[in-house]
Amino acid sequence: MNKEIYGNLIFELSNQNRKGYKLPKNDFPDEDVIPEKLRREKEPQLPQVDEPTVVRHYTNMSTNNFGVDTGFYPLGSCTMKYNPKINEQIASDDSILSAHPYQPDSTVQGNLELYFNLQRFLSEIGGMAEFTLNPYAGAHGELTGLMIIKAYHESNGDTKRNKVVVPDSAHGTNPASAAVAGFDVVEVKSLPDGTIDVESLKAVLDDSVAAVMMTNPNTLGIFEKNIPQISEIVHESGALLYYDGANLNPLLGVARPGDMGFDVMHINLHKTFSTPHGGGGPGSGPVGVRKGLEKFLPYPKVVRKTDGSFSIMTDDKESMGSISPTLGNFDVQVKALTYILSLGKEGLKEAGSLATLNANYIKEKLKEYYLLPIEGVCKHEFVFDGLKDKSTGVTTLNIAKRLLDMGYHAPTIYFPLLFHESLMIEPTETESKETIDQFIEAMKKIAKEATENPEIVKSAPHHTPVTRPDDTEAALHPVVTWNDLKQQNNNV
Ligand SMILES: *Cc1c(COP(=O)(O)O)cnc(C)c1O
Repeated sequence: MNKEIYGNLIFELSNQNRKGYKLPKNDFPDEDVIPEKLRREKEPQLPQVDEPTVVRHYTNMSTNNFGVDTGFYPLGSCTMKYNPKINEQIASDDSILSAHPYQPDSTVQGNLELYFNLQRFLSEIGGMAEFTLNPYAGAHGELTGLMIIKAYHESNGDTKRNKVVVPDSAHGTNPASAAVAGFDVVEVKSLPDGTIDVESLKAVLDDSVAAVMMTNPNTLGIFEKNIPQISEIVHESGALLYYDGANLNPLLGVARPGDMGFDVMHINLHKTFSTPHGGGGPGSGPVGVRKGLEKFLPYPKVVRKTDGSFSIMTDDKESMGSISPTLGNFDVQVKALTYILSLGKEGLKEAGSLATLNANYIKEKLKEYYLLPIEGVCKHEFVFDGLKDKSTGVTTLNIAKRLLDMGYHAPTIYFPLLFHESLMIEPTETESKETIDQFIEAMKKIAKEATENPEIVKSAPHHTPVTRPDDTEAALHPVVTWNDLKQQNNNV
């Protein structure tokens, strides 16, 4: 731990009897309230600090992290959209914060109405008949969708469909979800233009395939223009077509997966609908189905009764079952609904188009310096295959690290796996032209440095609190609690 940068740990700032509060003496006989066996034996060892010290400590720590509130965050495939502050304000309302998932229906009618309305809006946006908002993330939505597909085939007595087909450009969660749902995964190659090879797809479609999972635009930011034909051959084979909605952003208000022939889809509210997801959550992965598949959706379900009131239905014979004990991450749902209502139909359409424009602008400005493996118009994101001139040995990892020195979060690197030096950029619609131009200049500067002074790029970052941590070690053995090393040594 580098003290000069991080400062002291809060425990090291502790001073005997220093306090940030003053309470009157407790005259409540707590012995009578808490039974002896439930009381702690020893006072907890908490840091003793005054209020300004605590505030400064945590404020300083927060600025050691990069976030979308501190700078441009062009992470591809993740849609790191700016989270408007009004979302937080609405989601922090006491009626939302203090609601309990098991409160009687009659006491949370307003909240159930929000759930119901968001489900209707998503159905309209996706071109689906009905949505469930219960899954907690995109991957959880994929699992839900595949379980719905399984329930559908089983209801037809069609039990030998044990395969799920995914293109080689798919996000890793697609094959993983298929495996968790009990299917065998079949991979289909992409063509040089980045779209799925329809002939190869045809070759694997038979009566053992339950579903084909597609992302459109795909993870290269390319629109799968053969989707009508794909939909036709998939349905002819008796399989269903699943839409991974992580890339829905550029299509908002312009095109709908339901109209393209998709039967089941998920949406990542924490991507397309602007709720924050740095650090892994909380997320929300609603799943929508086309007409005829509604009965397989999971419970609990929110239903509107004939008198206009709402209730939670907790059982349903034909349903795939339950994927979560409650109605999902309600605070994330509220933020998404706030975003949809504040933008409106026209605003959503504008967001998708602007995201696409921004991505194409960056791509065209930088393709002279970075290798663009797939030419042409992209949607909301695109992929470079590292530098055009790789002779000095500067890699995509080096470029990503050097961007941190210049105040930008790195784009997604080494994904998709189709290229060796993938660098995947997604600017979103919320960035100004000035920010985007500054980013383009930074990328050009790095390309220039890579030729003239490659060492400075290879040894980057030079200005961040941590330089190059051991990613594997950090993931395998994270240190998440404070340990008093002195005390530990004494105990040995
Ligand atoms: C992010 C993403 C997923 C997984 O979503 P999570 O919410 O992270 O579980 C699936 N597919 C694609 C294309 C993605 O970008």
